[in-house]
Amino acid sequence: MKKPFLTIVVPCYNEEEVLDETTKQLTQMMESMLERDLISDDSKILYVDDGSKDATWSLISEKTADNRWVTGVKLSRNFGHQGALLAGLNAAYEKSDCIVSIDADLQDDVRVIADFLEKFREGYDVVYGVRGKRDTDTFFKRNTALAFYRFMERIGVKLVPNHADYRLLSKRALKEFLNYKEENMFIRGIIPLLGFKSTKVYYDRNERFAGESKYPLKKMISFAVDGITSFSIAPIRMLLALGFVMFAVGIGIGIYALVQKIMGQVTAGWTSLMISVWIVGGIQLLAIGVLGEYIGKIFKEVKGRPRYTIEENLYAEKVAKEEVRETKISSIQ
Ligand code: UDP
Ligand code: MG
Repeated sequence: MKKPFLTIVVPCYNEEEVLDETTKQLTQMMESMLERDLISDDSKILYVDDGSKDATWSLISEKTADNRWVTGVKLSRNFGHQGALLAGLNAAYEKSDCIVSIDADLQDDVRVIADFLEKFREGYDVVYGVRGKRDTDTFFKRNTALAFYRFMERIGVKLVPNHADYRLLSKRALKEFLNYKEENMFIRGIIPLLGFKSTKVYYDRNERFAGESKYPLKKMISFAVDGITSFSIAPIRMLLALGFVMFAVGIGIGIYALVQKIMGQVTAGWTSLMISVWIVGGIQLLAIGVLGEYIGKIFKEVKGRPRYTIEENLYAEKVAKEEVRETKISSIQ
């Protein structure tokens, strides 16, 4: 069997502190996988610079020149983790037989990439990296993440628990994935929808090698809201149900008020009035907010703007150069 061309896609946003170590570890991995005949010798590590403001891109360009495995793609500005990943997957699609996506910060154990490749060789199209334990994440992150997965399950979105964007996709799975054209990308929710034969590989999650999380609370919340609202209309249904309940309660209160009036026991009613005004007002605002969220999504989809813009593509350059060299060598022989 032909050895598969692997591209490891690594989104990077202000990751100058970790890039040296990440490159070292990924390079070691590539070399050991090459020795074990798991990958072809022109496989690549593809860094996607997501509009970093530090030296990330110059580091990537340097490494592209010095290290045979490394290449990079530069986005024209910050598009967010999902946008960067998508850009990398698109860039890698044509050439690769399979891709692995991983974060730059070495939180995910790079050694299991070899296990991914073994599974790929056994015929799996999707291999999920699943965190065995999360005790290196903060208490807060661990529990909010857990609550999020539970909630998603309740509202009927299939996610692989404790799996982030560390996975292998075969070429045909990637091809199907790239057919999902939605603007509001929640990649880890889409992968299970692809079908195909899939499996999981477990690993322990490490602490970030260096630097700070690029997912502050604000980004985390917006990621979670995106995940919920681009996969489920359950929140709208919940509001509808709430609306019905409020309506029923309202009728009850109306009847009660009428009866009281007929019996001549009208009280000042200030408290109950205030409370109901506040409750109803609150629910209305909530409902409008949820509707707004969905309408905002529709607005974004309708515009159909590009989901990322590539400024420089060293990956395509490097791969093309190597192809030219190969054809020259084979024409000489
Ligand atoms: N990232 C990115 N664009 C962003 C934010 C993050 O490309 O706008 C990258 C980041 O460089 C890292 C990965 O996405 O490789 C995950 O980010 P991070 O490790 O900071 O998130 P956490 O692990 O804390 O959830
Ligand atoms: Mg991280």
